Amino acid sequence: MAALGYTAPGLICVKLARKIVRARTHDPKIEVVKHPLVAASLAILRAKTTASADFRRALQEISVLLLGQASAGWETVPHQVETPLQSCMAEILARPLVLVPILRAGLGMLDGMLALLPQAAIGHIGVYRDEKTLRPATHFCRLPGTISEAQVVLVDPMLATGNSACQAATLLKSSGATRIQFICLVACPPGVRQLHSQHPDIDIITAAIDPELNDSGYIVPGLGDAGDRYFGTG
Ligand code: URA
Repeated sequence: MAALGYTAPGLICVKLARKIVRARTHDPKIEVVKHPLVAASLAILRAKTTASADFRRALQEISVLLLGQASAGWETVPHQVETPLQSCMAEILARPLVLVPILRAGLGMLDGMLALLPQAAIGHIGVYRDEKTLRPATHFCRLPGTISEAQVVLVDPMLATGNSACQAATLLKSSGATRIQFICLVACPPGVRQLHSQHPDIDIITAAIDPELNDSGYIVPGLGDAGDRYFGTG
């Protein structure tokens, strides 16, 4: 029936029910990427003696590796190609890709990711803490039109309180995004709890989980202020 362009209402209900069950039963996942190159880049990023140029290079390298791991489960579709010798079946990515750095530190992860996925569209989200309400507020949000069909990768080097990531994820969803992953370098338990309690469907991919946040909201041991170290504004 679907081939005739018609789907029975019962079938729609079954499909919808399956989707809902899947959404309700998604176990929030956090993946800590264990790879020698990730560990080596993270060591450079953590060291306070690392100069800005080396910090930038290490951030680009680790971002490529984390994205490689995050993309391991992405759907592909069969695609016929002509090699110089004959035609064969290959596979291509099933969905458009959207990378969304959270301003400003997330920008530091973008260059490396674009080297791997030059075809990706880029969205930008800027979030700050409103000093009156102490709630996260948005100062910038520009997202591509493909967001609802896309595989969306939200990026921010540090998952600290989780407030910015939650706010950004809420904005993405209100723009229609349904497939979102979050990539960071260092997460800590309060941030992971916060993001997963508000957005259990979003998997987190990180290079490390550090034990705690200090009173100023920095992850300890962490790597300091990722934005300042990347942009040289510390
Ligand atoms: N943002 C940073 O840049 N570093 C932290 O440790 C926490 C938030």
